[in-house]
Amino acid sequence: MTNPKISLSDKMTRLKDSFISQLPERISDLRRALTSLHERANTENAALADLHRHWHSLKGASRIFGFNDLAKVAAVGEAESQPLLDVHDTPIPPQWLDQQNGFIHALADHGSALSRTDSHHLDSFQVPYFEMGQIHQHWQQLGSPLVYVCDDETEQVEYLQYQLQCFGYQVRLFTDVDSFEQAVMQQRPDAVIMDVHFPQGRTAGTETLHRVNLCLGYQLPALVLSGMDHFEARLSAYRAGCRSYFTKPAKPLALANALDTLIRKPEIEPYQVLIVDDEPDIAEYHSLILTRAGMKVRQVHDPALVLDTLREFTPDLILIDVYMPGCNGYELAGVIRQVPEYLGMSIIYLSSETNTRKQLSAMEVGVEGFITKPVVPDDLVSAVTLRAERMRALRGLMTRDSLTGLYNHTTTTEIISAILAQASRNNESLVLAALDLDLFKQVNDNYGHLAGDQVLLALSHMLKNRLRHGDIVGRYGGEEFVILLRDTPIEDAHTLLDRLREEFSGIVFSAGNDTFSCTFCVGLSHYDSYSTLDELMSHSDQALYAAKHNGRNCVMRHGAPL
Ligand code: GH3
Ligand code: MG
Ligand code: MG
Repeated sequence: MTNPKISLSDKMTRLKDSFISQLPERISDLRRALTSLHERANTENAALADLHRHWHSLKGASRIFGFNDLAKVAAVGEAESQPLLDVHDTPIPPQWLDQQNGFIHALADHGSALSRTDSHHLDSFQVPYFEMGQIHQHWQQLGSPLVYVCDDETEQVEYLQYQLQCFGYQVRLFTDVDSFEQAVMQQRPDAVIMDVHFPQGRTAGTETLHRVNLCLGYQLPALVLSGMDHFEARLSAYRAGCRSYFTKPAKPLALANALDTLIRKPEIEPYQVLIVDDEPDIAEYHSLILTRAGMKVRQVHDPALVLDTLREFTPDLILIDVYMPGCNGYELAGVIRQVPEYLGMSIIYLSSETNTRKQLSAMEVGVEGFITKPVVPDDLVSAVTLRAERMRALRGLMTRDSLTGLYNHTTTTEIISAILAQASRNNESLVLAALDLDLFKQVNDNYGHLAGDQVLLALSHMLKNRLRHGDIVGRYGGEEFVILLRDTPIEDAHTLLDRLREEFSGIVFSAGNDTFSCTFCVGLSHYDSYSTLDELMSHSDQALYAAKHNGRNCVMRHGAPL
């Protein structure tokens, strides 16, 4: 069956790909024009018209293919070059040339991000392999967002740098706005903490940020940390795109939380949908609509295979065709719900049944919705999204700890068990760490429960920032955490956790006028293919117990001498 929609989409994809692959050439064209303008900076130069034309056509093409970031930069480049076209034989100011250079840089940045995501498709399901010697560097790179702090009060800033590093950020300090601006042009930070007042002017900091944003064509994630608290300063911060404004002295944890919100894009994993339909072409058609909307879709054409598929594919929702030979949709829903784990599974029927009474009776079996074929693609996407979202939210409530957002006890155990089973087949080297805060009861007693909660938050924050994506971190109990480090020799795990321990002990917490710090102990054990989860937990616990007896604030390995 040829489907015009599919071939159209194929064509579109090909055009988009070719646009991306031609981007470097377009950037070279812009550079060439600009170089020629640099050599003879006068409006009476054909290169000016070239530059303007290149921006213009780039703007148009980017819009067509939906690359809005590129289109924005190109639009600014075009708008800024337009006025010069209208004046004759006039020198071009050097600032204008610098600014155009900045736009081209921004364009190249967006462009390389695009080609990265493009090739990312290919290997996004493969865990990268790292030489053991690189493993720490890998942790550092993946786990540590880069933050630029620009502030002329050196002493305060160095303290802030130290504290933020404890939370797992890489921090670069700038004491004047010019060096900040130059650094941004060379390497983009993940976030910026900017002061407002500098010797150059009352709001020089935020003005610089605003200018940099214009040059880049997008807003750097930034927040303001200022000694001043007046309207002018706040307004200039807002204009520079800063939604958070902190006055000094700000608590490092509060800053770390704000940075986190700025940096982390909500990580929405694509929704997973299972389509059960005995007609492969129809299943393929619905699958295409959902895949295009960014979902991950699996098809099953024989109802008898659904339970097997569910063992290795966990959908957020199942779409079931009603009329299938051998077993109809209602029966299949019933069979699925016989399995206790799938009792809460979201199910939608897809059917050409238009009789509402029949539809309602289908709903009684616990099915959540009914979509009538032929379906309007947008309706299918929104019906599926709505239910998948709800399913995710419910699952989140069940699996996450509400204070720290880490996996809760049950989920941690489930995930680790699954990984162990896999590891015994693949001979993967795993380390299980049991972490427990030292004398935490005293923290609560001395500074209050809220202060204690801040410590738990800070710790989970640090762990999330510093561990790798594939590592598992769970809150096992009140002040106990469990970490599973994957593909890691125990020596490396020991070094890493010891470093985290030391950094954590450097965080200064405040409660009212008091300040305090906190430490933790870690017990480590190494997984070999004989051990069960219980044995592994018990080994780590024994090592943790030894660490407590050893005077606390240390990392111990199971079986290692004291
Ligand atoms: P040790 O070094 O031997 O581990 O001493 P400890 O005081 O940390 O150990 P203990 O098990 O005696 O006390 C744990 C404390 O953790 C008691 C409990 O009030 C506190 N705790 C557990 N969950 C939370 C929580 O969610 N918030 C706060 N603030 N405190 C909690
Ligand atoms: Mg404790
Ligand atoms: Mg305890």
